[in-house]
Amino acid sequence: MALIVQKYGGTSVANPDRIMNVARRVAAYRAKGDQVVVVVSAMSGVTDNLIKLAKEITALPSEREMDMLLATGEQQTIALTAIALHQLGIEATSLTGAQAGIVTDGVHTKAKIQNITPKKVHALLDAGNVVIVAGFQGETSEGHITTLGRGGSDLTAIALAAALKAELCQIYTDVDGVYTTDPRIVPNAKKLTEISYDEMLELAGAGAKVMQSRSVEFAKKFGVVFEVRSSLNDNPGTIVKEETKSMEGVVIRGVALDKNQAKVTLVAVPDRPGVAACIFKALGEAAINVDMIVQNISHGTPTTDLSFTLDKPDLAKARKVIDAFKPEVGYREALVSEQVGKLSIVGVGMRSHSGVAAKVFETLAKEGVNIEMISTSEIKISVIIDLAKGEAAVKAVHQAFIG
Ligand code: ASP
Ligand code: MG
Repeated sequence: MALIVQKYGGTSVANPDRIMNVARRVAAYRAKGDQVVVVVSAMSGVTDNLIKLAKEITALPSEREMDMLLATGEQQTIALTAIALHQLGIEATSLTGAQAGIVTDGVHTKAKIQNITPKKVHALLDAGNVVIVAGFQGETSEGHITTLGRGGSDLTAIALAAALKAELCQIYTDVDGVYTTDPRIVPNAKKLTEISYDEMLELAGAGAKVMQSRSVEFAKKFGVVFEVRSSLNDNPGTIVKEETKSMEGVVIRGVALDKNQAKVTLVAVPDRPGVAACIFKALGEAAINVDMIVQNISHGTPTTDLSFTLDKPDLAKARKVIDAFKPEVGYREALVSEQVGKLSIVGVGMRSHSGVAAKVFETLAKEGVNIEMISTSEIKISVIIDLAKGEAAVKAVHQAFIG
């Protein structure tokens, strides 16, 4: 008998049939005597629709009210999943994030989990229930509903697995596991049997939509080994765990394309101490995550251009911040482009193999892809390129490194 946390994403609970399918999977584990905690997302499309409704009223809705609104998506699914399990004769109880004891900070729409006191979860499990917890949501210590950022149900699952000391954590989705790249772009992409937290983290940060990056960070920090697998078949998935020696033998684990980036260039920024601090402090205070930053060398001129990338959904908020600091910073104009993509190549093997960057740039040059920005980490190379050439670039780089 084991304690298992299973998370089912939006496509796995997309309609009543799929929810019955989830219930049957849970029932099979229950029949073996396992205790099961199920974390579910909103049915696919529901969160997007709720956001759309709010945006029909205003481009900048209150973030507290967005959390109130979005949390309803997951609440539909927990109740429906419990009802489906009852239909199979299995005792099951649904809990909101708050009821499951998930306490977060007060940063609405991207709250961080501060602690979990899963008293109710334990009590219900001990009484023989399957416990179904709403993903993506929590509550502040003052009782305000919060959400954990898009894709946050993964975090709920990993954090609950850690808090409950679960034997197994399974992240069920509509793909068989983590692939070397998006199989919709490259049909011969390969499924990985295992991947390290760091590689998974870099891939998630690079826009590979398998999992939310904060969830992987959390898993790494608390040593939660988890499996990403499909809810639509019984194929084994990809195990995500601490790096092992043998993982370094492969140069490139995966290639990802993030289409969700926007690029901002501040033209003619005064080149004096404190300016960058002022700009990025203001963005930081608005909880806008800046990814790449490039500043030109100013060759004797008193001004320089400064470019950075951020997540497209943060752009409206960022524009406000950028307008607000214009008098203080004194740049000439702000150019915004949403037609950019971030291509990333990831692998712990980069530490011990040289010439990887050169090969990437050469491959892109052959495809006629211009590189607008570059950033690297020990195990990743990312470039900002024209969005229209993104998929062709992924194909070429995957072909060059993985086949
Ligand atoms: N429903 C939320 C979203 O679409 C959370 C999740 O799916 O994990 O982002
Ligand atoms: Mg989702």
